[in-house]
Amino acid sequence: MADQEVDLFVIGAGSGGVRAARVAGGYGARVMIAEEFRVGGTCVIRGCVPKKLLVYASRFAEEFEDAEGYGWTVPQPTFHWPSLIANKDREIARLEAAYTNTLERYKVALVKSRAVIEDDHTVRLLASGERVKAETILIATGAWPHYGPKIPGLEHVISSNEAFHLPDLPRRIVIQGGGYIAVEFACIFAGLGSEVTLVYRGENILRGFDDDVREHLRNEMRNRGIAVTCGHTVTGIDKSGDEFVTHLSDRSTIAADKVMFAIGRRPNVMSCGLEKLHVKLHEHGGIDVDEYSRSSVPSIYAVGDVTNRVNLTPVAIREGHSFADTLYGGKPTPVDHTNVPTAVFSEPEVGVIGLTERQARERLAVVDIYKTTFRPMKATLSGRDTRSFMKLVVDGTTDRVVGCHIVGPDAGELIQVIGIAVKMGATKADFDATMAVHPTAAEELVTLREKAMSYGRAAAE
Ligand SMILES: Cc1cc2nc3c(=O)[nH]c(=O)nc-3n(C[C@H](O)[C@H](O)[C@H](O)COP(=O)(O)OP(=O)(O)OC[C@H]3O[C@@H](n4cnc5c(N)ncnc54)[C@H](O)[C@@H]3O)c2cc1C
Repeated sequence: MADQEVDLFVIGAGSGGVRAARVAGGYGARVMIAEEFRVGGTCVIRGCVPKKLLVYASRFAEEFEDAEGYGWTVPQPTFHWPSLIANKDREIARLEAAYTNTLERYKVALVKSRAVIEDDHTVRLLASGERVKAETILIATGAWPHYGPKIPGLEHVISSNEAFHLPDLPRRIVIQGGGYIAVEFACIFAGLGSEVTLVYRGENILRGFDDDVREHLRNEMRNRGIAVTCGHTVTGIDKSGDEFVTHLSDRSTIAADKVMFAIGRRPNVMSCGLEKLHVKLHEHGGIDVDEYSRSSVPSIYAVGDVTNRVNLTPVAIREGHSFADTLYGGKPTPVDHTNVPTAVFSEPEVGVIGLTERQARERLAVVDIYKTTFRPMKATLSGRDTRSFMKLVVDGTTDRVVGCHIVGPDAGELIQVIGIAVKMGATKADFDATMAVHPTAAEELVTLREKAMSYGRAAAE
């Protein structure tokens, strides 16, 4: 016999879980949510938000340098890592409280406990041993850093989770990984003054992004003093006094004060007792769900990173919201995972939406490419050696802009807005008909007249 009964039990109070719980609560459902760590989940506690605060911190160094070309004299700036971390922690605590208040406002019962599923309609709270009966269970347990094969010295390696709480700024750091988290942390540490080596096993960073973007960013990172080593892996780490010696697959070694791995994240499927149930997993490791986020067990749904669809906060939020609209709001709402704009908060920033040049050539009969590389106006007086990059990928048959790729200041902000046009199906002619805003970098996107390349199907084969 269960101790309590609810309409919806949500496991995990992160981006997807909190949104689903509060929207379902708003529709009048009796909702309980369990969180084993801190309310807010990865994004708020150890992901997007603290990372962006560190990104802001890391960018001041260039601002101080650039100011000189504009007539400013800036005394030698100094940086204090513990102050940054303490201020960041205060802001995260504020956000956690705001999320908790929101749940209370929507009458969602919050339990601070690990929750495990016992059967299709029963959840057990490990903190109290209590059982809760639920008509529907939503798994929103997120993902967890993956460290790869067991290599000697792996116990010395930190992930992004620990990077947010280091007592000191490492003077030298080796980061293994080539995805956005590895790249962002490489730029954060470099901006704050660390000596950074990025080690990636593939041929170039940011796999899955447009090849021009990958090349452009890698050059920009190198210009900023980051050693980017591709085609190698870390094979072991030795601790020697206070330092770590990292061994690479080419037998070279790098001495550093910290070694961080950001080589991928695995869906958190095991944290909630799934092994006992018949919930089908996808071959990519996430919970297999349909367009309404329903799993192979009709009473169990899953949203966010645990489904390993598109692992981004706004996607988890949308999936959670759509789930609640569908089940409790009488509005069946499938989630559209195409054309999701996204940013990499590197230095310089990356913003992308839609198809890469390579994907467009594989999928479309005719592809036109428009691109430009230019010196941002601010770099003229500052004398900074940096370039921005912009590219439009156009379906040559329909004239639709099917991809936009930007590397440069505020690329994340730009791609959010361009994303509306691309999602609406804007054509290259629509872009051309839009008056430029001058002088901006974004005006390049509406003044790209010369095709850099045009591919027909024959060329793509
Ligand atoms: C360093 C970093 C930077 C990132 N930057 C960005 C970014 O800039 N933009 C972006 O869009 N995305 C970013 N992401 C990704 C984003 O954080 C995730 O996509 C998002 O948080 C996924 O939300 P979720 O609801 O699926 O899971 P989460 O937010 O991870 O929430 C899952 C919650 O479930 C809890 N939990 C797990 N198992 C149990 C259990 N059995 N019982 C109770 N509680 C449990 C966990 O403690 C956690 O709080 C970043 C991620 C990282 C790691």
